[in-house]
Amino acid sequence: MKHSTYIRRYMDDEMHMLKTTSEEYIALEERYGAHNYHPLPVVLSKGEGIYVWDVEGKKYFDFLSAYSAVNQGHCHPRIIQALIDQAQTLTLTSRAFYNNRLGEAEKFVCELFGYEKALFMNSGAEANETAIKLARKWGYSVKGIPQNQAVIVAAQRNFHGRTTGIISASTDPAARENFGPFMPGYEVIPYDDIDALEQSVRNPDVCAFWVEPIQGEAGVYVPKPGYLAKASELCRRHNVLLMVDEIQTGLGRTGKLLASHYENVHPDVLILGKALSGGTYPVSVVLSSDEIMLTIKPGEHGSTFGGNPLAAAVTVASLKVLLDEGMIENAFSMGELFRKRLNEIKNLSPLISAVRGKGLLNAIVIKPTADGRTAWDVCMKFMKNGLLAKPTHGDIIRLAPPLIINEKQLTEACDIIEKTILEF
Ligand code: PLP
Repeated sequence: MKHSTYIRRYMDDEMHMLKTTSEEYIALEERYGAHNYHPLPVVLSKGEGIYVWDVEGKKYFDFLSAYSAVNQGHCHPRIIQALIDQAQTLTLTSRAFYNNRLGEAEKFVCELFGYEKALFMNSGAEANETAIKLARKWGYSVKGIPQNQAVIVAAQRNFHGRTTGIISASTDPAARENFGPFMPGYEVIPYDDIDALEQSVRNPDVCAFWVEPIQGEAGVYVPKPGYLAKASELCRRHNVLLMVDEIQTGLGRTGKLLASHYENVHPDVLILGKALSGGTYPVSVVLSSDEIMLTIKPGEHGSTFGGNPLAAAVTVASLKVLLDEGMIENAFSMGELFRKRLNEIKNLSPLISAVRGKGLLNAIVIKPTADGRTAWDVCMKFMKNGLLAKPTHGDIIRLAPPLIINEKQLTEACDIIEKTILEF
């Protein structure tokens, strides 16, 4: 295509975009985008607090919060201001040089979570890959595991991301099929099974137990009280690192700063992501002790964008907002109210077979109706009635609004959930 033709077509497209409908946006993505997601047919163009709006101007409660990345609410003014200020000053220097924001962010997260060292990355998957490398490195250089024999114990139904190294420990066929060969060095045991863990950690080649305090992606599976505390004790006794992935459960989502705090557990390796930036920028971090973190030497691990000044500034602002504005306490109290109401709705309809969760990380399990309608159909009706949520693993609907939701808004959202459920 000639350059002038291309420019003309581009300008025509730009004009066209001004009046594009949801159907047209969806068609565009379907035509040109990879089909690696199956979104609900809604096209969002604006977010503020707990609400999002579609391109036709319809307003919705956001009950997914970008998989818990938007804990602080959409476009939180203080986070956006930090983003703008830093973006106008310095965005990326690469780690070939120091920058004046990273040290402050490292200090802030170390002091807040109680660790000696922090290693910033971008996505959650990258942070988990970092944790895997750290555990192995520590296994060989400190624990004395013979070369290439280190084993990481993972849990069935885990979700830690989508890299080939991570899916090698997955038990989800959709995550694995036709993506092999897989990375060796894992043992996968049942979740919430302390006896199975006790067996596994006896193996002297085990360097780490890698676990989510609540399995969010799998469908909000909450383990029995005491599971994480017992796992921590077992790990300590057998010189195995406890590596906790709080990418979804952390940063107030479950009603505490970390879900591990419910059991007074201090993981050896803590993995955070998502809400570290309040949904404005991909930031993740791995926290650990000097003994573990300093096993990685210069040149052995990194990322072009990891620890950039923009990410650092946004992280500090996002965490301050979470703490200053009482979002963690609010998640706890709104979570209690939410589950109480969800259980009342469950008693009104046989469509809901279970309600579970902690804080504002919750799920309902949908029993398919006699005429074959499923969790997907329920989410379609939620959408029609002004609330966005998405099924996970077929019959489970995760319900996780931003942590700033107040009682009046929660009641209004619950009224939508109840009305929708009773329409079936
Ligand atoms: N770990 C957990 C517990 C998650 O829930 C997720 C994402 O949902 C990830 C890791 C992966 O994070 P990302 O999608 O940023 O790679």
